[in-house]
Amino acid sequence: MKVCRNCPSFHDGKKWAMNRQKWEELRKQGAEEVLCEACRRIRDRVVGGIVYAEGPVLEERRDEVIRMLRREEEIESGRNHLCRILEIQQEGPRWTITTINQWMALHIAKQLRKAFKGRLEVERDASGRGGRGSRGREEIVVKWYQA
Ligand SMILES: [Zn+2]
Repeated sequence: MKVCRNCPSFHDGKKWAMNRQKWEELRKQGAEEVLCEACRRIRDRVVGGIVYAEGPVLEERRDEVIRMLRREEEIESGRNHLCRILEIQQEGPRWTITTINQWMALHIAKQLRKAFKGRLEVERDASGRGGRGSRGREEIVVKWYQA
């Protein structure tokens, strides 16, 4: 058993999972402290997905939207350890949300649409456009417009 030194995750020999109670228990027992896969990706700024979101709600109900995103991150990372948000860049009604895996970006865009309606577009591979630097990159790009 290993524990992450950066977030409440533990490794059972097969996979990482987030669980604060278990994490505290294992730390008390002196489990080895390492950096989990998700925290390593965040440290290395590995981008798996990008959400370009645009809409007045992002400005008008900013705190509410942030809380929603963080709640979704908590729920989803409980199911899949790599469902984590790397960064939320806000420029008024235009946000760029980066995630460390593809699924989370898609999930965030879907949640935005579910909560505030609007339009969703999925672009498989942003770096594929123009053909430069596309090899080996597999991030997903999702766009959501409120109106
Ligand atoms: Zn971690």
